[in-house]
Amino acid sequence: MGLRFRIDWPLPGTRRRADLVFVGAKVAVFVDGCFWHGCPEHGTWPKANADWWRNKIETNIRRDHDTDARLKADGWRVLRFWEHDESVRAARAIRHAVAIRRRKAEFRR
Ligand SMILES: [Zn+2]
Repeated sequence: MGLRFRIDWPLPGTRRRADLVFVGAKVAVFVDGCFWHGCPEHGTWPKANADWWRNKIETNIRRDHDTDARLKADGWRVLRFWEHDESVRAARAIRHAVAIRRRKAEFRR
């Protein structure tokens, strides 16, 4: 779609990274793996070491929410997709969000 972005971008003040970032537009995109981030459709809860896995995945989900909150507080638009999401639809949603942000930035000048 002709948009330029950075990948695996470190979030300031954290050891976390965003999967895709449009720095100027302040749009951060995450593509969450269904297993690691507890997808309601495809997430599975392993039976071996069940407590450990549940804690691991729930910690990931809490961290995701915390990351979103921090970014939003800092003026970022955050988009999250699941790895199962259709990539063209995701790309269109991203393009839309970036376009809105850039339009707003033009009005501020
Ligand atoms: Zn999924």
